[in-house]
Amino acid sequence: MNFFDKMNELTGVSLNDVQKQAVRHTDGPLLLLASPGSGKTTTLNMKIGYLMLVKKVPAANILAITFSKASVRDMEERFEQFFSELTSQRVQFSTIHSFAYKVVREYFRKNQINYQLVEGAVTDMLHKKNIIRTIFSEQVKQAPTEDEMDEILSYISFVKNRMVPDKELAKVPCSIGSAAKIFRAYEEFKKQNASNLLLDFDDMLTYCLDVLQKDEQIRTKYQQLYQYVLTDESQDNSVVQHDIVQILAAPQNNLCVVADDDQTIFMWRGADVAKLLNFQQIYPGAKVLTMAQNYRSTKEIVDTANQFIKRNENRYDKKMFTENEQGKPIEIHNMRRYDLQLNYVVDEIQKAPNPKEMIILYRNNSSAIRLVDLLEKKDIPFYMKDVDVKFFKHWIVEDILNFMRLSYNDRRADILERVYSKMNAYIKKAQIQVLLNDGQDTSCFDRLQQNLHAPYQEQALRKAKKNIKTMNALPPDEAIRLIRDKLGYDKTLKNRAEHLGFNEENLLSIVSQLEHIAEGLPDLAAFAQRLKDIEEIMKTSRFNKNEQVVTLSTMHSSKGLEFDSVYMVDLVDGVIPSKDDMKEYKAGNKEQMMEAVRLFYVGMTRARKHLELLTYSQKDEETTRPSAFIDDVKKIMLGEQLGELQLSEQVLKDEVIRPKSIITNKAYQQKKVRDIPKDAIQDRNDLQRGTIVLHQVYERGFVKKIEGDEIEIMFDHYGAKKFMIDFCLQQSMLRSGK
Ligand code: ATP
Ligand code: MG
Repeated sequence: MNFFDKMNELTGVSLNDVQKQAVRHTDGPLLLLASPGSGKTTTLNMKIGYLMLVKKVPAANILAITFSKASVRDMEERFEQFFSELTSQRVQFSTIHSFAYKVVREYFRKNQINYQLVEGAVTDMLHKKNIIRTIFSEQVKQAPTEDEMDEILSYISFVKNRMVPDKELAKVPCSIGSAAKIFRAYEEFKKQNASNLLLDFDDMLTYCLDVLQKDEQIRTKYQQLYQYVLTDESQDNSVVQHDIVQILAAPQNNLCVVADDDQTIFMWRGADVAKLLNFQQIYPGAKVLTMAQNYRSTKEIVDTANQFIKRNENRYDKKMFTENEQGKPIEIHNMRRYDLQLNYVVDEIQKAPNPKEMIILYRNNSSAIRLVDLLEKKDIPFYMKDVDVKFFKHWIVEDILNFMRLSYNDRRADILERVYSKMNAYIKKAQIQVLLNDGQDTSCFDRLQQNLHAPYQEQALRKAKKNIKTMNALPPDEAIRLIRDKLGYDKTLKNRAEHLGFNEENLLSIVSQLEHIAEGLPDLAAFAQRLKDIEEIMKTSRFNKNEQVVTLSTMHSSKGLEFDSVYMVDLVDGVIPSKDDMKEYKAGNKEQMMEAVRLFYVGMTRARKHLELLTYSQKDEETTRPSAFIDDVKKIMLGEQLGELQLSEQVLKDEVIRPKSIITNKAYQQKKVRDIPKDAIQDRNDLQRGTIVLHQVYERGFVKKIEGDEIEIMFDHYGAKKFMIDFCLQQSMLRSGK
């Protein structure tokens, strides 16, 4: 029996002509550029089977690369399903990063080079973020805001992945003026200690490319080992990734690249579609196959998505079609309020005959928190892809818990120390220092009364004391309201947004999420426990992967997957498209908006039979507006022309645009968002000539000189460096080295 008949019998999938052609085209370069659901991944898997079973290629000579760890697992599963009966050989499915890391490790071992990763938990001293924060502060003479940190991190990742040449660094758009300088300093810093190179994730790729280029022995080894190279989801490969693949595949170029340019959703990581569009120039004689027939979804879904993606400019023009049945119309529900959307989704999950065939998609991870809260209350299990529990570690969550802790015991100066600057009692740092050292065990507020720094503080302290006491007996949601209103926490957040470059709306939405989680809980302790529980439930949900449960996922992480029913939630202007997407678009820069369009398209095309788009008109007392993309879908369904993108003026108007340069020194001094290590040096007097210190980034050293506001430290590995003393103290940069 021939291979294709056998596969049909075994898997029920009968490949079409183009797919068969792609499978048979084993020798030489091939680009398979095709729409969602057209069978790219299926073809790639079949091709691996074909290589092994028909061409008798040993599995060890095949390398299959895909985008994320999650897709590696999905690929392995699909391959198992198809071929477990026919072969026991294991094919190497790998992410480009894990492959690159393997090459780099081998090279370092061979040349006896020591290295250290600067990724992982930020609590590690030598962490990418700490290093960049330090370099930023040195270059800009001011600590970065969170937004600036995000900006500079994406800039660095982008220029590394795109391999932007040094002289063009300044041309890459970035709102941080000295981005190029910071990048150069960061690169230099990582190589400074030649006996211990520092590596981040992007370095793995650039080092790997470098090793493959210059080390002939390693290059030849891998070129000979991997006779056949296949890459799925290649539309999200960056320049450096394409280049690695190019070297590996040489000289025979038995390369199969599978991609869909309409599904590029990682531009900010340097994804490069141009490399796909120029495939035949890079690989002369390459075959390019396209497939437009969708086997996944109903006609309704395919036709609508096909119209919608026309919003994406600069694309290979494809017309996706299907021979599947018409199916039900796409459902669009505009709920009056956010909580009604939440209840609706949970109802639908409960009603679902087969929840394993259902996925809930959202753009941002934060959308999952309240959903998880509700699912747990109703005892509905779920599986969550790419769990992200950053929310529970956010400083706002810590603040709220600390206020609550204080209400149990207002004698704790160490807790007050963490929140005093975030409430309206005019407490000064010096006063806190006194409290910490006075050895007394009475109410902090009473003790402060004996040491007022201004007469008006007396009443403020009395009020604060009373409010905090009252809070303890309140149900937790009311306690949070009290923190926000009476203790002035909302004002603090507004202030911080204004001066430190946070997005005010994001900050307020975190407190209001906490407030909702608190609803119905009896007391403050129950609230603290509830947060722990939700975090735990999210983390342990991965054990439900193969159970009969609903899946929750970001749109990004749903790439390549398919489900009978897809519910896309929180489809409001400001989320998808985001405010930033909208602002850039209005300003004439369409890139980000196009990426949001593609992301929405990826979401829609996950559905086999049933697609629902959910939105609402109000959240936390604020009016919201359904996503402009929903308008598009409606128009398509009514047979109307799309016309201009209908963006909400309101959302744009709400935005207070703050130039980042007005961050004042004073405001920055209040910034204290990271956990302070126990032995952090926080007092100027603890720094004397000769004091041994541990620096967050430069490790061990001793104080060489103190001059005015500046301190010079001689580091064991990095030589002498100068810092602003205040900056070191406020950022807890130094710990005692004794
Ligand atoms: P995406 O772009 O979303 O990753 P894809 O192009 O990789 O999609 P697949 O996931 O491989 O598409 O296939 C989509 C669905 O179509 C799968 O359920 C697969 O089994 C089915 N399919 C693929 N080819 C055929 C075929 N020739 N006949 C019937 N069904 C097929
Ligand atoms: Mg696929």
